[in-house]
Amino acid sequence: MPKSWRNLILGTVAFLGTGALIGWIYGRPEIGLLVAALAALAWQIRQLLSFHRALGTRNFDAFRFGDGIWQQVFSRFSRANERASKYKERHRVLLREIRKSTDAMPDGAVILNGSNQIVMCNRAAKQLAGLKPRKDRGQRVDNILRHPELTELLQSDDFKASIEIESPVSPIGWLNCRVVPYGANQKLLLLRDVTERLRLNKMRRDFVANASHELRSPLTVISGYLDSIADDGAPEEWVFPVSQMQAQARRMNAIIAELLELSRLESAGLASLDNTVDVAGLMFAAKKAYQSSSGEHADIQLEIESGAVLRGNSSQIESVITNLLSNALRHTPADGTVTLRWESNKKGADLTVTDTGEGISAENIPRLTERFFRVDRGRAREDGGVGLGLAIVKHVLSRHNAELHIKSTPGQGSQFRCHFPAARIDASRDLDVAGATG
Ligand code: ADP
Repeated sequence: MPKSWRNLILGTVAFLGTGALIGWIYGRPEIGLLVAALAALAWQIRQLLSFHRALGTRNFDAFRFGDGIWQQVFSRFSRANERASKYKERHRVLLREIRKSTDAMPDGAVILNGSNQIVMCNRAAKQLAGLKPRKDRGQRVDNILRHPELTELLQSDDFKASIEIESPVSPIGWLNCRVVPYGANQKLLLLRDVTERLRLNKMRRDFVANASHELRSPLTVISGYLDSIADDGAPEEWVFPVSQMQAQARRMNAIIAELLELSRLESAGLASLDNTVDVAGLMFAAKKAYQSSSGEHADIQLEIESGAVLRGNSSQIESVITNLLSNALRHTPADGTVTLRWESNKKGADLTVTDTGEGISAENIPRLTERFFRVDRGRAREDGGVGLGLAIVKHVLSRHNAELHIKSTPGQGSQFRCHFPAARIDASRDLDVAGATG
C-alpha cells in the first residue's frame, strides 16, 4: 500500500480514536467519536471544495493542500494540466503555421465533409471563389458555387477528373476545380485560376483559325490559275513545274482544311453532340467511297457486330472513321487487309480499325495524337500526310467522352480502338444490321 494511503488511514483512525478517548474521559465515548468523525468529514469537504475552486480558477498556485494525499492528487493533477497546456500551445502554433502556409498557397483549398459542407477554406479560396471562411462554414459548397458540372464532380468521387468553371467573382475569370480525398470521409476541393491559360489557348485557336481562313482565298486563286495553265496546255518546260505547284497547292489546301476542322472542333459547344449516329451506316459508306476511288489499296473488311446507335455528332464520327481508314490504307500494302469493326456490350461500344500493315514502334505510339506528329516525316510528306488526322480523331473522341486505344506491332499491323461509354449508346434504337460483314 502506498505510504500516503497508509498515512491517511492511520491518521483518520488516530483522529477518531482520540475523539473517542476524549469522549470516554467525559463518560460519552460515542459523542466524542461522532464529533471527531464530523470534524474529519468537514476537513475532507473543505479540501474537496478548495480543489473544485482550483479547477474552476485554473490558478493552481493559489492553493496549498499540506503534505497529505490531497497534495499528491493536486500536484499530479496540476502537472498533467501543465503538460496539456503545453501540448495545446504547441498545437496552436502548429495550426497557425499550417494556416499561414495554406494561406500563402496561390491555389484555393476548401476542406469539405462527407456531405460536401465547408469545414475550412484558405485565403486563396476566398479571393478566387468569394468564399467567406466564417460565414460559409457548414454550408454546402455546391449551394455557393452553383455549377451543375461541379455538383457532378463532387458526387462522382472521380479524383482524377478536373473541370473548368466560370469564376464567381470575375466576369472574365475561369477556375479549374479538382477534388482529392482528404482525411477520414473528407475531401479537399482545389481551385486554380486558369484564366490566363485559357486566354492564351483561345488566342492560339483564334490565330490558327484566322490564319488558315485567310490563307484559303489566295490559295484558291493560285490553284485556279495553275489549273487553267495546266488545262490550256502550258509550254513544255512549264509542264513539270506547274504539276508540282498543283500538287503542293493541293497539299496546302489539305493542311488548311484539317487545321480549320481542328479549330472548329476546339470551339466547343458549336456542334450538337446529341444526334443519332448510325455508325454501321457510316462504315458502309466509308468502305464504298474508298473502294470506288482509283488506285490500288488493301482489302477493306466490315464486321458489324452490333446495331447500336451512338449519341453524338454524325459528321465528326464520319471524320474519325475516314481518318482511321485512310491512315490504315496508307500504311498497309495492297495485299493486306483493313478491318472496320463495330461492337457493343454493357460497358459501351467499340469502333475498331485494324490493319495488317507496317505497324508503329512502341516509342512512337504515345505521340501519335500530337499535332503535326508523323513517324516518318519525309515519307508522310510524299504520301500527303499532314500529321493532324489523329489529333482530330482524339479531339472528336474526347468530345464524345470516348477514349482511343492504340495497339501495334511493327511489321504486323496496328489496331485503333475507339471506346464509347454506355452513356453514349442508345440501346433503345438498335438498328437491325448486327452480323453484317463484307
Ligand atoms: P497523317 O496525316 O500524317 O496520317 P495522323 O495524325 O493521321 O497524320 O497520323 C500520325 C502518324 O501516325 C502518321 O504519320 C503515321 O506515321 C502514323 N500512323 C497513323 N496510322 C497508322 C497506321 N494505321 N499504321 C502505321 N502508322 C500509322
